[in-house]
Amino acid sequence: MANYDYDIGILGGGSGGLTVAAGAAQLGARTLLVEKEEALGGDCLHFGCVPSKTLIRTAHVYHLMKKAKEFGLPPVEVRPVDFREVAKRIQSVIQVIQKHDSEERFCNLGAKVEFGPPIFRDEHSIDLNGKFLSAKNWVIATGSSASIPPIPGLEQTPYLTNRDLYSFDRLPTSMIILGAGPIAAEMAQAFCRLGTRVEVIQRSGQILSNEDKDMADRVMEVLQEEGVAFHLNTSILSARDLGKEREVVIKPREGGPKSLKAETILIALGREANLKSLNLEGIGVPYDPKGLTLDARLRTIHKHIYGAGDVTGTYQFTHAAGYEGSIVVSNAIFHLPRKVDYTYLPWCTYTHPELASIGMNEKRAKAAGIEYDVWVEEFKDNDRSLAEGEPVGKIKMLLDKKGKPIGVQILGPRAGDLVSEWVAVLNGGVKPMTLAAAVHPYPTLGEINKKVAGTYLSSKIFSERMKKGLRFFFNLRGRACGPT
Ligand SMILES: Cc1cc2nc3c(=O)[nH]c(=O)nc-3n(C[C@H](O)[C@H](O)[C@H](O)COP(=O)(O)OP(=O)(O)OC[C@H]3O[C@@H](n4cnc5c(N)ncnc54)[C@H](O)[C@@H]3O)c2cc1C
Repeated sequence: MANYDYDIGILGGGSGGLTVAAGAAQLGARTLLVEKEEALGGDCLHFGCVPSKTLIRTAHVYHLMKKAKEFGLPPVEVRPVDFREVAKRIQSVIQVIQKHDSEERFCNLGAKVEFGPPIFRDEHSIDLNGKFLSAKNWVIATGSSASIPPIPGLEQTPYLTNRDLYSFDRLPTSMIILGAGPIAAEMAQAFCRLGTRVEVIQRSGQILSNEDKDMADRVMEVLQEEGVAFHLNTSILSARDLGKEREVVIKPREGGPKSLKAETILIALGREANLKSLNLEGIGVPYDPKGLTLDARLRTIHKHIYGAGDVTGTYQFTHAAGYEGSIVVSNAIFHLPRKVDYTYLPWCTYTHPELASIGMNEKRAKAAGIEYDVWVEEFKDNDRSLAEGEPVGKIKMLLDKKGKPIGVQILGPRAGDLVSEWVAVLNGGVKPMTLAAAVHPYPTLGEINKKVAGTYLSSKIFSERMKKGLRFFFNLRGRACGPT
């Protein structure tokens, strides 16, 4: 049997790679973790989830300060934002979390961490800074980067991606955002709230295009009310550096070309997998710009080389990367064949209100040809939402024709947290009756979950047929009062 340096080698020390490294090392596998940058943690920690959510919180507090009067407080005179202070707060949060993702921690778990750019030499070994390192299994978890479209003039025009957003010396006065997915929507609102003039350009007629249109449109309306300008059904013709400003020329579906000018351009038009520098061509591992070609057990064409995280090109979230990492550990270390199943993978866009999703929404159900019923409850009817001053949004529960929940969409305050109850409901096959009967604390936002299940059940329990039956069996005498 071949003698390898390691049982498993992992390329990329982000959400996916760290999950595999922690799992494999703790199970007793001789584990190598290779990271190209100088620190572990990946995009999520350094340029993604953590800095963006920290910025969103800061922007939310600033927004609330301006709304003090709406809460019965004396109006507050807010001073302009000093972005260096905001950036400091972002870095301080990253530093705390960085400790969990430190080289020492992984060394203590039993994994050897090496830094540098790895290149596959053959199917079992890499060249790292001139050293050859071999492993029985390899995992590619090198993440993704902002995809840069071939827009005429863009190459000669300074632009930003998610890597540049959190370290400005001062707040940009204006920003044109190309794209209207989750990153674009979150950053549009956060920067607008902090005082930047923001315009968003979107090719299709809807922002957050994976979501149901009614939910996404409501998010857009809130952002518009706060001052973000949207250009939907619009293509981008060119970009140009004008010195102090940048220009983006757009072409709306109706009407002629238009010139937009701003201090900065943010590109948020999707992601491209970081696979180009690994010499995958040399070892015959197929991939395209979205990601690796993988089977359901996350194996490439070589059964001992796996993919996890954004390089799978499927659901590009930290929790998806962690889940995929656990599938790889199961397959490569436990030798327990496990396939990925994304049926109930939840996600959330952290605009305010948040938009969370699990399972089927109407769009996906229609595309899959599934017949469904929708049950809706509004946050304006939730006592806690009113107390919090958060009345915008609703929950949509989709049931199949047998009354089984197949998906839930929540637009509202803390939707990302509220959807967690549905993670248990859907994965556990819990019936709406169980959820509706379970006592929830009052007053909480979470009561909306119970209420939507209860509304569905009420339609069954309080049906004319049921009332007729009860009247007959228990001699009930019917209404004591009626509508005037
Ligand atoms: C602005 C923004 C906000 C986001 N917000 C959220 C959110 O709120 N919730 C959520 O779930 N997801 C969010 N995401 C997505 C999330 O960050 C990614 O899905 C997640 O980081 C993917 O994990 P990964 O391990 O695949 O990649 P990463 O975490 O990026 O890790 C990949 C690692 O590989 C390293 N690497 C790259 N190339 C090589 C190479 N050749 N050799 C060795 N190492 C290499 C990188 O340096 C990096 O450390 C956000 C992303 C962005 C950009």
